[in-house]
Amino acid sequence: MNILQQRIIDDGEVFPNNVLKVDSFLNHQIDPHIMYSIANDFYQHFKSAGITKILTIEASGIAPAIFVAQKFDVPMLFAKKKEPSTLQNQEVYTELVHSYTKNTDSNIIVSKQFLNADDKVLVVDDFLANGEAAMGLISIAEQAGADVAGVAICIEKSFQNGRQRILDHGYEVYSAARIASLENNQVRFNDGH
Ligand code: 5GP
Repeated sequence: MNILQQRIIDDGEVFPNNVLKVDSFLNHQIDPHIMYSIANDFYQHFKSAGITKILTIEASGIAPAIFVAQKFDVPMLFAKKKEPSTLQNQEVYTELVHSYTKNTDSNIIVSKQFLNADDKVLVVDDFLANGEAAMGLISIAEQAGADVAGVAICIEKSFQNGRQRILDHGYEVYSAARIASLENNQVRFNDGH
């Protein structure tokens, strides 16, 4: 068991609708040691891929993505969920994304200034459930003509269909922790990661 899995067992709380609350180390208060270990794990896996940019979505993807970007020594770029007035006159890539936890739709946006066809992108997020956020980020990268090296996830709920959607689209998914089930308020991991 890696330190992320151990922390999920120790501090994760199971909520209705198969939502795992990890506010004590990932989604509200941030444990830098856990983030650092996740970033190392992703780096070992993707270090030969020629990554030039880490792409995530606000808000909860930002913390892990910064650590990952620092490890790869490349910039971190996050999709915004609301168009700020400062971006209005710029050209943006945009995609509609449904939020699993908030049950809302938002048009995520990334300025064309920061992503282009020379980039090789690693998509990073805190959770993978039905793959909406990751597929939205993949679409943004594809609109830019960038290559997608893969999708790196802190906590994957592998009983939901996000992984399959991304694989069907032709990209790799790598997760630091893979949860097989949250039934009876009990976290069970897949074998291996
Ligand atoms: P997806 O887009 O893959 O359906 O869901 C992933 C997104 O929803 C992540 O960006 C994450 O913020 C949120 N999310 C999905 N499932 C969970 C969960 O069990 N716990 C938490 N804290 N966030 C989740």
